[in-house]
Amino acid sequence: MTLWEKYIDNLRFPSLDNNIDVDILIIGGGIAGLSNLYVQKDKNSLLVEANRVGMGVTMASTAKLTILQEDILLKLLKNSFYIAKTYLNSQLEALNMLKKIINKENIECDFEEVDSLLISRNQKEIKKVEIIKKFLKINNILVTDLNNKRGIKIKAYQFNPLKYLNGLKKELKDKIYEQTKVINMKKNKDYYIVTTSNQKIIKAKKVIITCQYPFFLKPLFLPLNTTIQKSTIIVTKKCPNKKLNYITVDKPTLSYRSYNNYGIYLSGVHPTWKSNNEIKNYEKVKKAFNILEEDILCSWTNTDIISGDNLPFIGVIKNNMYIATAFNTWGILNGIISSKIIDDLINNKENPYLNIFNPQRIKKYQKSINSIFSNLISFLKGIKKNKKWYSKKVFWENVKGKRIGIYVDEEGKEHKVKAICPHLKCPLEFNLVDKTWDCPCHSSRFTIDGKWLKGPSKKDISYKK
Ligand SMILES: Cc1cc2nc3c(=O)[nH]c(=O)nc-3n(C[C@H](O)[C@H](O)[C@H](O)COP(=O)(O)OP(=O)(O)OC[C@H]3O[C@@H](n4cnc5c(N)ncnc54)[C@H](O)[C@@H]3O)c2cc1C
Repeated sequence: MTLWEKYIDNLRFPSLDNNIDVDILIIGGGIAGLSNLYVQKDKNSLLVEANRVGMGVTMASTAKLTILQEDILLKLLKNSFYIAKTYLNSQLEALNMLKKIINKENIECDFEEVDSLLISRNQKEIKKVEIIKKFLKINNILVTDLNNKRGIKIKAYQFNPLKYLNGLKKELKDKIYEQTKVINMKKNKDYYIVTTSNQKIIKAKKVIITCQYPFFLKPLFLPLNTTIQKSTIIVTKKCPNKKLNYITVDKPTLSYRSYNNYGIYLSGVHPTWKSNNEIKNYEKVKKAFNILEEDILCSWTNTDIISGDNLPFIGVIKNNMYIATAFNTWGILNGIISSKIIDDLINNKENPYLNIFNPQRIKKYQKSINSIFSNLISFLKGIKKNKKWYSKKVFWENVKGKRIGIYVDEEGKEHKVKAICPHLKCPLEFNLVDKTWDCPCHSSRFTIDGKWLKGPSKKDISYKK
């Protein structure tokens, strides 16, 4: 259970139970989807969400609103000053948009100004911080050195993402359908025919895809060019420093923020094929921050999509189809700016960020043999790891050639699933922190009894004899 879950309001939306025609359809109700719907609210638009609005990756976020996003600026700078500057501007513009919306709609979301720190524990890595500092100064951002000279500090923000989405939802009441999962999409003349899991048809002139890892894109559009990164979060009942967040530039990444009296700690960052022993990662996070078990309020793990060049995919995929995804674990501001970029595209306006976020850019320079190999290796390592990995609570057996996963709960009850992801047949792994079956390849997630929770899988993995 995440910290933010308890802040979700009682406002529920119906599931779509009739066929419908719209001008703009948004698929996925996280920060990106709701931000896009908010901008398109005066048009004939609607949003469909497979589960409940806000309960995807957005609910798992630490929700820091800062431009000190680990070493992303540095990586972009290595590529080009123009790209780094354009990215910086996009984040600042998103922040301004967010402030305006909070003020205009009077949203109580504990939005607060904080000190945001970028720290290096390692003498060798201080150079990285220095480069980022210089870049920020050139761009007129006020930066100060920490007293111990091991990092820098800027003014930034943080908020409660679920309270913010509660505020947006109120403004978008008649435009949202929950428990409405898209399972198919086809182009037909001037519109898309979108099918939902209860076989309702939505005819849409334009479609905006904000559901993280869409299965209905052309095969291998994303898998070849992205990795999935998982992290572990622990929330403590007390917080040592209020109105503060930090992240390290050196690895392993340590990240902290305060929320009221709670401390929110993140670490254990890894690509999903690497180390899927969630209990071990949980213990590592505790050790890294010196957290005592009795001080813990809650913990969770979650994944985000990482692009090969550290820039999100926001823009046009093909005629009248738009996407906003691969936010590199910084999706709050990127989700918000996606609504402006896509709106400008819809209205044939110029936008300064189009160029760097263009999802078609992968055609030009990312479709390399390397990325094909790394995906294959992820897949094979996943299979290998699985064999060693199972704990006393989790087993697997082969039934008539099918890989069946069994989780034994606290009361000794067995929960069986088909432990192969229906999306692209990757072997699933059991996540002992969240008690879910997780796909290491493309981040689909299922309950202990095999019900779909997240990701590109169209189907559940329930097992019946
Ligand atoms: C541990 C962690 C910490 C993070 N910390 C930060 C941070 O401090 N600051 C920051 O800016 N970012 C952070 N991020 C990243 C940020 O939270 C995400 O990038 C962002 O929330 C993604 O938003 P989204 O709207 O794209 O996805 P989601 O919130 O996942 O929304 C997508 C929605 O689409 C729905 N959906 C999926 N498939 C379908 C379908 N077929 N039909 C209909 N609906 C569908 C899902 O149910 C889901 O609700 C963090 C991420 C993680 C994992």
